[in-house]
Amino acid sequence: MSGSQVATLASVQIFLDRQHGLYIDGGQQAAQSEKRLTIYNPATGEPIATTADASTADVDKAVMSAWKAFVARTWAGRLPAERERILLRFADLVEQHTEELAQLETLEQGKSIHISRAFEVGCTLNWMRYTAGLATKITGSTLDVSIPMPEGARYQAWTRKEPVGVVAGIVPWNFPLMIGMWKVMPALASGCSIVIKPSETTPLTLLRVAELATEAGIPDGVFNVVTGSGSECGTALTSHPQVAKVSFTGSTATGKQIARSAADRLTRVTLELGGKNPAIVLKDADPQWVIEGLMTGSFLNQGQVCAASSRIYIEAPLFDNLVSGFEQAVKSLNVGPGMSETANINPLVSRAHCDKVQAFLQEAQQNNAELLSGNAGPGGNGYYVAPTLVVNPDASLRLNREEVFGPVVNLVRVADGEEALRLANDTEYGLTASVWTRDLSHALSYSDRLQAGTVWINSHTLIDANLPFGGMKQSGTGRDFGPDWLDGWCETKSVCVRY
Ligand code: NDP
Repeated sequence: MSGSQVATLASVQIFLDRQHGLYIDGGQQAAQSEKRLTIYNPATGEPIATTADASTADVDKAVMSAWKAFVARTWAGRLPAERERILLRFADLVEQHTEELAQLETLEQGKSIHISRAFEVGCTLNWMRYTAGLATKITGSTLDVSIPMPEGARYQAWTRKEPVGVVAGIVPWNFPLMIGMWKVMPALASGCSIVIKPSETTPLTLLRVAELATEAGIPDGVFNVVTGSGSECGTALTSHPQVAKVSFTGSTATGKQIARSAADRLTRVTLELGGKNPAIVLKDADPQWVIEGLMTGSFLNQGQVCAASSRIYIEAPLFDNLVSGFEQAVKSLNVGPGMSETANINPLVSRAHCDKVQAFLQEAQQNNAELLSGNAGPGGNGYYVAPTLVVNPDASLRLNREEVFGPVVNLVRVADGEEALRLANDTEYGLTASVWTRDLSHALSYSDRLQAGTVWINSHTLIDANLPFGGMKQSGTGRDFGPDWLDGWCETKSVCVRY
């Protein structure tokens, strides 16, 4: 049962019904291309809105608008404290529109309204305010140098951080607002201009947030949104000669394509890519903590989370007990629309993605894997996949190595922690991992040896604005968040003075 549904706000319906253009130079502009993209409600499969499908020429216009604003220094030239103040006002405006943004997100992406309120908007506000504060903390160093000529000369030297220029932000569909703002905020805090492309599946919240940025006082041209396909709009944006940096979150395949194209112009790139994230459960772990923590770690946002735990390796003495605990938890999940007050598993983002996840499960079924599934959902034309545990899957199955990005998690019996560690690291990815134990020495020994950008001990998937995040191996390059976050959005200039 999915329970009663949240009533759609009038302002949300008005926004859905609009003839959206591109957000360029501080306002809506009609795209040159007349092609439109249709946005669907994942809970029903029904169309709810359309947006512009930007062409290469449209993208060029947006980038040139960002470039003009950058060289005119309408934003980069502001005092850091002014940038901070305007960004904090921007955060306040986003907060005032929490319910509107949360509903738009749930209607286009499918996730629970509670997650939209708490994560897409609530956590985004934490990141916005944290990053606004970094605007006034950009620092270089003073350096002693030993230049020996001409004889008797003395030098003073220092470094300063300067914004890189125009940034291209490419945003995936799993957390469109939150991941979008992880690109917008460091760009703006450091004084860059940005052109951002949401996924064509989920473009609505960033279009709305751009209006709030202008209302907050961010100058025209500094924050632009282009909606369109990855193949045309995304390619045109990431390969534009005036783009100094690309910040990309999405699949490893697309990330590699962008890195190859960026190499031609030596454009700076940060890539936050996929993961096949392991959790190691040692025999002394607290079973209740494991089930609570890894149910959230695996099924939050229907598993459409790059950091999600998708392979759980359990030491033999705890295995049967934990499998039955996880099974009970999965069977108690309430599957329904995101706008339901009570559903805690919701549809996946699109028909295509739903089919992709189902194909992993069909392959497992055909190979006689043991699947323990929960409720299949209300059916109809919604994009539902039943939350599923795959018990001891055969090593040959694709879901052992590939990112499923759905409500599917493997439970694997291991003889001991060393076997778990070997299997955990046997992947091309290296985004996140966790280890579950009451023994601190074990916890530290495994966290040292896990090949992942973030390792949690007795938790999984919990991120924070002050904790750097990013991948090892094929999960990406560069780190987001943390006190040094803006370094990736600035050039270091050395200044050397003879006296
Ligand atoms: P993609 O990597 O294709 O999409 C991510 C973003 O990149 C979207 O905005 C997309 O636009 C854009 N894009 C696509 N092609 C290009 C291109 N050539 N140049 C520039 N931008 C481009 O991921 P998918 O949506 O296809 O998802 C596939 C898989 O990727 C998922 O199943 C999951 O495994 C992984 N993924 C990982 C995410 C993460 O957070 N690390 C997030 C999303 C997906 P558009 O959507 O309009 O095509």
